[in-house]
Amino acid sequence: MSSSTSTFTAHRTDGQPLHPHEDLIGHLLARQVHRKELRRKKPRCEVCGKKPAVSFSMFYPGYRWLFVCMCTAEDEHGPWVSIKDYCGSQKFRDDKDRHIGEKRAEYSESFFAAVARYVDAGGVLRQ
Ligand SMILES: [Zn+2]
Repeated sequence: MSSSTSTFTAHRTDGQPLHPHEDLIGHLLARQVHRKELRRKKPRCEVCGKKPAVSFSMFYPGYRWLFVCMCTAEDEHGPWVSIKDYCGSQKFRDDKDRHIGEKRAEYSESFFAAVARYVDAGGVLRQ
């Protein structure tokens, strides 16, 4: 009987071997902290970059949607959507998405692009 050293290799549930120096738990926890930080961060207004955005607002010409704070209030002459309402309720969002989806393509695509930028900036769409 040979007395070879056991070469135990940890595997992830998907069968891929772990790098022996990989601190998996630390890595996972760091990701969790990062997600929490993103959630705490309220995306800033796309115009002034200073205050948290409070609405998705459409600007003429060109049906251009931006997420903004109150700094643009005097320049807004188009529709707007409350970020609190839109991001706070799946029901509100579904109704609004359906309504906006029926508008012309430049209008709806710009709106959904603004929502995507908002999420990329750390905005959270709650259920
Ligand atoms: Zn602003």
